[in-house]
Order: sequence, then C-alpha cells, then structure tokens
Amino acid sequence: MRIVVLAGGIGGARFLRGLLAAAPEAEITVIGNTGDDIHLFGLKVCPDLDTVMYTLGGGIHEEQGWGRADETFTVKEELAAYGVGPEWFGLGDRDFATHIVRTQMLAAGYPLSAVTEALCARWKPGVRLIPMSDDRVETHVLVETDGERKAIHFQEYWVRLRAAVPAHAVVPVGAEAAKPAPGVLEAIAAADVIVFPPSNPVVSIGTILAVPGVREAIAEAGVPVVGLSPIVGDAPVRGMADKVLAAVGVESTAAAVAAHYGSGLLDGWLVDTVDEGAVPQIEAAGIRCRAIPLLMTDLDATTRMAREALALAEEVRA
Ligand code: GDP
Ligand code: CA
Repeated sequence: MRIVVLAGGIGGARFLRGLLAAAPEAEITVIGNTGDDIHLFGLKVCPDLDTVMYTLGGGIHEEQGWGRADETFTVKEELAAYGVGPEWFGLGDRDFATHIVRTQMLAAGYPLSAVTEALCARWKPGVRLIPMSDDRVETHVLVETDGERKAIHFQEYWVRLRAAVPAHAVVPVGAEAAKPAPGVLEAIAAADVIVFPPSNPVVSIGTILAVPGVREAIAEAGVPVVGLSPIVGDAPVRGMADKVLAAVGVESTAAAVAAHYGSGLLDGWLVDTVDEGAVPQIEAAGIRCRAIPLLMTDLDATTRMAREALALAEEVRA
C-alpha cells in the first residue's frame, strides 16, 4: 500500500510514528511543510522537515517535541556574547550541524529535496520525506502591534510573540510561484490513500496545499483522503492553532476545520470522542466521520489512531 501524508512538525511527526507501526509494510511518502523555513545566522533552517526527520530517526527531544535530544547551547551562547541574535529561536549545537550541512549543500547547487534525502540517509526515518517545494516559500503573518499592521515572518509571530498579538491574515509568500518538488505530484498520483495527520490546518497543511498543483492533484487522485482533527474539544491539543484559524476566519472546532478542507478534498475525518456531537453535522457536509480517542499520549494510542484512519479510508473507498 502506498500512503501519502502531508505533514507539519510535531503533530505530523508523532502521527507518523503510529502510522509506521500500524502499516509496517506500507510505502509512506511524507510531503513536508517548508513554509516555516527561516534563514538564521546565514543558515537555512527547516523546522518541520527536521522535526519529522529527528522524530522518526530517533534524535528528537521527546518532551519538547522539536530539536535534538541531549542538546547543548554553546554556539548560541557565543553568538549572544557577540550580541548576535535572534535570541528567541532555540538552535542547539547538534541542531546547528544539520543546518550547516543543509546550507552548504544548497550553496553547492543541490535542491532542498536532494539535501533532505541526503540528511535522511543518516536518520533513516522509514518514510520518504520530500519538501513540498524546492522553491522558497515563507509564511508571513499580518499582525497588529501598537495600532499598526505589518507582515512578519511566521517564526517571529509564533516563537517570539507566542501568537499573542492579533493576526489578520496568513500569507504563504512565494507559494503562488512555487513548483511542487520532484516526486510530490508523482507520489500523490500513485497513492492508495492520502492522509492529513493532526497537523496545523493553516500553517502546515494549508501551506502545502497552497503550492500550485498539490490541491488539484489530491482532489483528482481518485483515492480516499482522510484526516485527523488537531482540534479536540474546541481547542488545539498543543500550541496556538486557534489563533491562525481565527486569522483565516475558521472557528476552532473539529467540524469547522473539516468544512475548511471541504468535501471536495476530504472524504473522511476523525474527531475525538469529546466531539462526537459534531459527527452528524460533518457527515451532512458530505464527509464520512467517526469519533475515536485522538490523543497521541503514547505509541499504542497513536497506532490505534493510524489504524482507524486507514480503516476509515477503506470504508470510504467501498
Ligand atoms: P508544528 O509544525 O510543530 O506546529 O506541528 P503540526 O502542524 O504538525 O501539528 C500541530 C498540531 O498538532 C496542533 O494544532 C495540535 O493541536 C496538534 N496536536 C498535537 N498533539 C496532538 C494530539 O495528541 N492529538 C491531536 N488530535 N492533535 C495533536
Ligand atoms: Ca511548523
């Protein structure tokens, strides 16, 4: 079975662990979000690709959910001693090595997809990880501070400001001119099932869908497209997805996120048992829906979620 997953960082990566356990024989292609990418200290940092790579490769800081385990911060301290920031983005020494290798390869002319493949040769994530595009796409958020509106990089909004300022729009800058990376459209066309993990619907999956051709390819693939809600009990399980959903005019409910993807794209949707009451409404909108426990508390729970997603896909296919 060939499974394609559109993934952001933590939510996508943790789900993928369960999917690998639920479908060990499957060929899994992960299309990773690169809208979060940022240039820091002259280095190209790809937070979502790295979270997937480190999580599946056994290098992740488990409790934090991003960055490396057993990390030290000597380089960061030395940069701070020179007065060189930003100090709000936590890059550890081990992590720095990844960004140095990536930046060096990009400078040598390799596209990001080839660089990602090279990095994965070390981490062996057990999936094929492809960035959504080799072209630069950067998510910006239109915020209001001191009565003035300005667009800032997503990481500045998310990490520095903790999404605590009003946001009016989320713009994947560069997306309209970006091409899907080699292998992206091919993987979608060859897929038996397409899965939207519980990743951020706006700045993770939404950004991938904004690359011209991706949404169309998924809609036209003619295979089940199933998703799992990142919103449980009207709030994100983790993080501040409610803030970016509000910025694009979507309520923070499992039903509203399903409607946001729409029945033209999504065939099946899993909501948490606490949101069971929303099932009839989602089904009335033309999306097959089931309520099951959706908290990725451990590998067993996550594996059950992945199994349910695959079962829902078969139900939709039948
Ligand atoms: P990011 O790029 O690191 O922000 O990660 P993603 O976009 O892949 O996923 C973020 C989303 O994962 C958040 O909106 C969370 O609500 C969701 N999430 C995190 N843990 C869980 C969980 O255990 N269950 C569900 N259903 N969603 C989760
Ligand atoms: Ca992210």
